[in-house]
Amino acid sequence: MPAHSGRHFLQIPGPTNVPDRILRAIDHPTIDHRGPDFGRLGAKVLDGVKGIFRTASPVVIYPASGTGAWEAALVNTLSPGDRVLMAETGHFASLWRELAARLGLEPEFLPGDWRHGADPAAIEARLAEDREHAIKAVCVVHNETSTGVASRIPEIRAAIDRAGHPALFLVDTISSLGSIDYRHDEWGVDVTVGGSQKGLMLPPGLSFNAVSDKARAAAKSARLPRSYWDWESMIAVNGTGYFPYTPATNLLFGLDAAIDMLMEEGLDNVFARHDRHAEATRRAVRAWGLEVLAADAREYSSSLTAVLVPDGVDADALRGTILERFDMSLGNGLGRLKGKVFRIGHLGSFNDLMLCATLSGVEMGLVTHGVPVERGGVQAAMEYLTGNA
Ligand SMILES: *Cc1c(COP(=O)(O)O)cnc(C)c1O
Repeated sequence: MPAHSGRHFLQIPGPTNVPDRILRAIDHPTIDHRGPDFGRLGAKVLDGVKGIFRTASPVVIYPASGTGAWEAALVNTLSPGDRVLMAETGHFASLWRELAARLGLEPEFLPGDWRHGADPAAIEARLAEDREHAIKAVCVVHNETSTGVASRIPEIRAAIDRAGHPALFLVDTISSLGSIDYRHDEWGVDVTVGGSQKGLMLPPGLSFNAVSDKARAAAKSARLPRSYWDWESMIAVNGTGYFPYTPATNLLFGLDAAIDMLMEEGLDNVFARHDRHAEATRRAVRAWGLEVLAADAREYSSSLTAVLVPDGVDADALRGTILERFDMSLGNGLGRLKGKVFRIGHLGSFNDLMLCATLSGVEMGLVTHGVPVERGGVQAAMEYLTGNA
């Protein structure tokens, strides 16, 4: 690998670029997590983070990657042998399903083609059939990071309601929170799973469960073993700004700054910025003559775009060329998409010029690698950005 000067371009769909303001906030002497300064920080972030989830309910913050918060959502609400309905949207949905099975749950997978989101009609039909209410939870990945497809959460909520089914609704927003419109309370979600290293612009290491009253009530009778992940031991001390075990203190300084940044910009502006960058990216992809993996325009992800490469091209070799020549990391194809797609992350701390540079790196990489494409993708993106300020 040749030596590179200037900044590396980290354009994978998480971890994302950590802005300098957050790096400066994290760069702080570690403080006593039982002392008064910590209590003020804890109380502030535990309250502030609710605004990001758009909830008035408690949000539990774990020192863990997103996978930990997946596990927490299940072990707090369910009992051994419980049936859970999950939607096969892609690689991350498949991993959550595997985790559920390992915990002793009975996951039932609604099949998908990895180009569409969870199908509200299929969920409604399956729940309507389940007259005994054997299904205890419906689990959906909001933004499937392996495919760049965003499921329509309000429509899925409406489908559960039309079926008249009491199942809990669990949603993974690890790569959509702080990038794509999401409303825990208004959309009637029971557990929202989040992570720090994507739209929240933080390093990896924090994850979240936003918890509805219905989910907390279910936790009272849920019998899967839990200790570290137990919501109630967290919520009991969170009220005073503290945690039952050592929290990731310095990441919480960063979270405080991240919440401030998102709120100063305004969440709706943040979402509009992501929508605009995603549309510019899709225009570039089409101008190159390539195909976006997401098949339904209603489900385009605003945090990343997965791009199919032509037959005979290995997407990982292309990514290797781009890394070596232009010092830019792009997301790889996961699971059954290995070698078939590359993923452009355009979420988090990001702006027009960063997008143009990213797309320039992709266009130069495609040409350098000998992929048969048209030029002019960056031009198409610039025209869209200029015309849609
Ligand atoms: C990144 C991601 C995860 C996994 O999170 P980790 O922090 O790697 O454990 C789960 N679900 C989605 C949708 C993701 O994007």
